[in-house]
Amino acid sequence: MSVWDGFKDAALGRSLVERIAERLDALGATERQPVRLMEVCGGHTHSIFRYGLATVLPPALEFLHGPGCPVCVLPMGRIDDCVAIAEDPRVIFTTFGDAMRVPGSRKSLMQAKADGADIRMVYSPLDALALARRNPDREVVFFGLGFETTMPSTALTVLRAEAEGIANFSLFSQHVTIIPTLKAVLDTPGLTVDGFIGPGHVSMVIGLRPYRFIAETYRKPFVVAGFEPVDVLQSVWMLLGRIAEGRPVIENQYGRVVPEDGNQRARAAMDAVFEERERCEWRGLGSIDRSGVRIRDRYARFDAERRFSVGGAVVADPQACQCGEVLTGTLKPWQCRLFGNGCSPETPVGALMVSSEGACAAWYQYGGAR
Ligand code: SF4
Repeated sequence: MSVWDGFKDAALGRSLVERIAERLDALGATERQPVRLMEVCGGHTHSIFRYGLATVLPPALEFLHGPGCPVCVLPMGRIDDCVAIAEDPRVIFTTFGDAMRVPGSRKSLMQAKADGADIRMVYSPLDALALARRNPDREVVFFGLGFETTMPSTALTVLRAEAEGIANFSLFSQHVTIIPTLKAVLDTPGLTVDGFIGPGHVSMVIGLRPYRFIAETYRKPFVVAGFEPVDVLQSVWMLLGRIAEGRPVIENQYGRVVPEDGNQRARAAMDAVFEERERCEWRGLGSIDRSGVRIRDRYARFDAERRFSVGGAVVADPQACQCGEVLTGTLKPWQCRLFGNGCSPETPVGALMVSSEGACAAWYQYGGAR
């Protein structure tokens, strides 16, 4: 099967690859001195591996896989908190399926379920709220995780719970925010990145304005991109153009979905329910100030962290795990000493091996990319 079989428009894909090669040549990029672009979002990481993009692009282009997969950056301590809540016999603990296999220091949610905890997979926080309505004698907790993509639906669910007076529903928030994360990446010592493929779904909510500092302060171009292979290729081509011009700007390749100003209603719901968290722990990256959100005092009764007195425990990653270096683009997945050597999708040591959007899992499944 050819790489091009995965494209809806293979001719357009081929033409973009040729034009990218021309721009790389004009820049004088080589395999030894490549142009290095970071895709921030796990969805793009998945697209790059799934469609074999790096195999059809010249070696003078290098993709760095960024920290935009929320499951991949779930710290052990937060999984331990989830397990502690879920093991309370009063609780029905609900979560997206992706989080089930992320290792904690004692066990994953999957193992806790096997040990008897009432843990159920849901597709939306509203499913968890419906469970709370149907089970008034149980405490239903929803594990809210993700960037600004999923945060609005969680916030709206809390607002709905309040409006309906549902007392047995609460939220355990591990929501994180993209801008402090990008700043942390840009400030990573020793990391060279020439431009960014920006997240499509997060940008639907926050719009383009919050990224301006990347062009103004760090002088890097940033193109918000869609997830089809030609979207990613076109974004690469646009970034190379801005690099050649020496003109770092924020651009929107995904205009069919991402409005320049984002979604004001979604942002209003997030602002109503959440406030910045002073310290936020990330798997592999340590603590990044104000990079996550907690529930405002006004909605404290829906805050599982306060209701079950958990949160704040910092648990070190396993010593041999190199997720942090992969997340900041300083190490390729296969260069981790545990890759395929104790860490695999069946037995993940790090969270990057759990989600299909994780660089390690994507490499393991599809391979063949640089
Ligand atoms: Fe982390 Fe496993 Fe990937 Fe190593 S191979 S970086 S431990 S997920």
